[in-house]
Amino acid sequence: MSNRILRKTRLAERIWEFEVEAPRIAKRAEAGQFVALRSSEVGERVPITISEKDPERGVITLVVQEAGMETQSLGSLKEGEDILDVLGPLGKPTELQAEGTCVCIGGGVGIAILRPIVRALKEKGNRVVTILGARDRSLLILRKELEALSDEVLVCTDNGSEGVHGMVTDVLRQYLDGGGKCDRVFAIGPLRMMWAVGDMTTERGIPCTVSLNPVMLCASGMCGACRVSVGGETLFACVHGPEFEASKVNFAELQARQMMYREAEERILREHATCSLEERHAELPERAAKEIQMISGAAEGEPSKRKIIPKHVPVTILEPKERIKTFDEVSLGYNEEEAIAEANRCIECKNPGCVAGCPVGVNIPAFVSLIAQGKFAEAYQVVCESHMLGAVCGRVCPQETQCEQLCALGKKFDSVCIGRLERFCADWAAAHPEAMARANGHPVVTPEWWSKVAVIGSGPAGLCCAADLAKAGVKVTIFEALHRPGGVLAYGIPEFRLPRGVVDREVQRVKDLGVDIELNVIVGRTVTLDELFESGYKAVFVGSGAGLPTFLNIPGENLKGVFSANEFLTRVNLMRARLFPFYHTPIYVGDVTFVFGAGNTAMDAVRCALRLGSRDARILYRRSREEAPARHEELEHAEEEGVRFEFLVAPTRFIGNDDGWVTGVEIQRMELGEPDASGRRRPVPIGGSEEIWPCDCAIVAVGQSPNPTIPQTTPGLETGRRGVIVVDKETLATSIPGIYSGGDAVSGGTTVIEAAGHGRKAARSILRYLCSLPGVAPPHVLARVEALEAAAAGGGTAE
Ligand code: FAD
Ligand code: SF4
Repeated sequence: MSNRILRKTRLAERIWEFEVEAPRIAKRAEAGQFVALRSSEVGERVPITISEKDPERGVITLVVQEAGMETQSLGSLKEGEDILDVLGPLGKPTELQAEGTCVCIGGGVGIAILRPIVRALKEKGNRVVTILGARDRSLLILRKELEALSDEVLVCTDNGSEGVHGMVTDVLRQYLDGGGKCDRVFAIGPLRMMWAVGDMTTERGIPCTVSLNPVMLCASGMCGACRVSVGGETLFACVHGPEFEASKVNFAELQARQMMYREAEERILREHATCSLEERHAELPERAAKEIQMISGAAEGEPSKRKIIPKHVPVTILEPKERIKTFDEVSLGYNEEEAIAEANRCIECKNPGCVAGCPVGVNIPAFVSLIAQGKFAEAYQVVCESHMLGAVCGRVCPQETQCEQLCALGKKFDSVCIGRLERFCADWAAAHPEAMARANGHPVVTPEWWSKVAVIGSGPAGLCCAADLAKAGVKVTIFEALHRPGGVLAYGIPEFRLPRGVVDREVQRVKDLGVDIELNVIVGRTVTLDELFESGYKAVFVGSGAGLPTFLNIPGENLKGVFSANEFLTRVNLMRARLFPFYHTPIYVGDVTFVFGAGNTAMDAVRCALRLGSRDARILYRRSREEAPARHEELEHAEEEGVRFEFLVAPTRFIGNDDGWVTGVEIQRMELGEPDASGRRRPVPIGGSEEIWPCDCAIVAVGQSPNPTIPQTTPGLETGRRGVIVVDKETLATSIPGIYSGGDAVSGGTTVIEAAGHGRKAARSILRYLCSLPGVAPPHVLARVEALEAAAAGGGTAE
């Protein structure tokens, strides 16, 4: 769907009004909501409030002030061009009611955001007094439009070039002191202005709503970059806001957080002030140039320098000293000879433990045996019968606790390296397109789609569900909130573990089955589940994952330099901030970076910090190494790379300096007590063991919970502890007929292969459900569903 710019008007120096084609957003947008924009492939996602909407014409109006790199890029777009991504409408609409007299205050581009609020307040029967402020008359925008909507308009400029010489607070004071009536104030503009208005209204006991503009990244409740302290609680502006009661907002903290990336950006902009984009690109370091070429399909990456570190049948992995300088993949996998040699170690058990250990029942002995015979394409076909993510799972699945743990050889010797063999045959198939055509081996049952299903989320659960439905002749559209498909595979797992090209390849194979993927659609906001049913989808699968970060809830957590792992990893992976400023999203890493937690997410974050230049990158974990949930291989790789591990310590508070930057953490030592509900020994604090450890960056990786948008916007969808979607274990049916769910949204967070397994299981249930609807499924489908169910029950496949 295009986001064409239909009109671009200059409102003032560096302030542009755009009319943009966005029918879905225009239909749903309400006053106070915003969109997240990205101008180009290298762009940052910036939030821009919707200034006007015209649902009939399917257009929204946005006012953009050129400030940072990305808004400058947006400002350079012309009429007729497309904005690459427009996601929304986001945030909660303004709470509007009959208040009596409302004073609406707009400063700078805040005036544009005020316009729909003034209009809506008038529609509710309020009297509206509008105060407009700008630095200079040339920057005063939309005065006439606001005059047409308001009962009274008062104007001021900082230099007295128009209206009162002074600030909006001076005008508000005069108005109130003069006996002006005021039942509520709305203030939108620069943070300092909203802060000052908030202080004045709080003193006088007048309720005041402000629209906050913190740093944002995902804008969909996933990263926590936009967190603000409101009434002592940490809230996300993109989900809980952007509007809040001014008297409750911690403005000082917000102002400090807003400055977090500004220094880096300003320095870069100064350096490039006189450069055109082409000149800027001519200066690209070699690596960034290569990445940009790869995006445009112009060049393939060069193989990395190799050095062998033996393990099992030796696999080539990059030398630690080399790899911490790059994001190149650490393990380069087996070549043909190595794969055959490793596969030949398999003794083809009659009752193979490995298959029982695989959550999707891959026929491991069969594909391993085919590799041993050199029949690589055929081996890959066997993997594909169970799931579509061979190259991904071969890289990131925790085989050591699944199939490889139950491998018969493992009782006395090394287990067969099943994961490496799975990766090998998937990579081999990709490198041999003619074999790939055969390996795809999943002819769609009928080229005529007999029904339509919507899948929400393009992570492993959504992709696998969509693939199975498509193979059965169901037309599937996947709706994805981000601008790249893949879920955690795209935004969370770094390229040194899972290269972007591998994820793209697996996604493409799902698309090749006829599955459509619509990016930048946040279901629940852009379109609701009810609307999907109304538009002809017969069933829905919710695979929205568990992207909501958990914080430590200790003092100082909102200091600058403290991040959720989701924010940090999304900047690095999805937004390519590691190549800032060539990609417009900035990133901050410290000299000393502490990462809290010891799961895969923590390992990914700490290893990224090391690669981005942290001299001392450390894991702090409250239990011992034995309890660490990360894959063993990831722990070992982190250790080899020089990550320091501090076990049996827990943070109790962060310490900051006068500028609001983190400077250290107070830790308390722990000892292990009795096992808790998870079966791991419980950490028990040792009294009096507190110490302060200096650091200048902290990343919190202590867990995630399901993304709340769909449950919040779908009445009747039952949720359980920590917000997981409640489903029937056998069918994955939710509390609403026709809606199924799986993956992290249901489990709260497990593994790629568990999510893939859920996707497949849900596809079988959805097919059976479609068969139960009168006149929907052709007769042969039920037989196919029964065959699939029988195969699943027997741990095999029906293909
Ligand atoms: P996700 O992969 O989370 O995908 C959900 C998708 O839904 C996202 O793209 C999201 O943007 C989209 N979405 C959410 N809400 C909406 C909405 N309202 N509208 C539209 N789209 C929406 N597992 C392993 O097996 N091995 C590992 O090594 C490993 N490492 C990990 C490292 C990190 C950093 C993280 C965070 C997780 C890791 N995991 C690992 C866990 C694994 O990635 C997840 O269990 C798996 O991706 C879950 O798949 P899913 O499809 O349920 O959800
Ligand atoms: Fe081969 Fe190990 Fe599976 Fe036995 S358990 S079939 S040896 S991979």
